[in-house]
Amino acid sequence: MMAFDYESLIASIPDYPEPGVVFKDITPLLADPEGFNALVNDLADRFSDKGVTKVVGAEARGFMVGAPVAFKLGAGFVPARKPGKLPREVRSQEYALEYGTNSLEMHVDALVPGDKVLLIDDLAATGGTAIAQVKLVEAAGAEVVGMGFLLELAFLDPRGVISQATDAEIHSLV
Ligand code: 5GP
Repeated sequence: MMAFDYESLIASIPDYPEPGVVFKDITPLLADPEGFNALVNDLADRFSDKGVTKVVGAEARGFMVGAPVAFKLGAGFVPARKPGKLPREVRSQEYALEYGTNSLEMHVDALVPGDKVLLIDDLAATGGTAIAQVKLVEAAGAEVVGMGFLLELAFLDPRGVISQATDAEIHSLV
């Protein structure tokens, strides 16, 4: 089967959200019935032999892609959210941004030891968001068995950075 042409449905927006940044807008792909289907199937199929019990996705685009991948794999979905959004006890993990820091939170009981976790996000840039999620998963005693992205900005080398935190398989469609 021919690979789906994802790039034709991803828009590049110069100087968004700030000057000098080229933002990759995946909303045309999400809105395209064939594209969305291919995206979810391609990511799920790649990790279908890993015994995934939970998919973790970060707010907000990690929800859009991660939740349907979890459904397809017959796994649960666990959100990693921005501070203050989850109502019960959480673990927090800070990560560095270009200027300053941000953090992600996960309910302390969302994962249990023995869980095999697939991290899903739309895009890997510096890898900081992914590594914060790896730390949250490991703090819960669970194991990251794979990481799937729609897009990997290879010029920022997220793969090299993430490989220092985990040896889980990384797969990107573009
Ligand atoms: P990182 O932590 O790897 O530097 O950044 C990845 C995170 O930021 C992902 O959660 C992703 O959704 C978001 N992100 C950063 N740049 C872009 C972009 O150009 N397009 C989209 N769609 N998301 C981005």
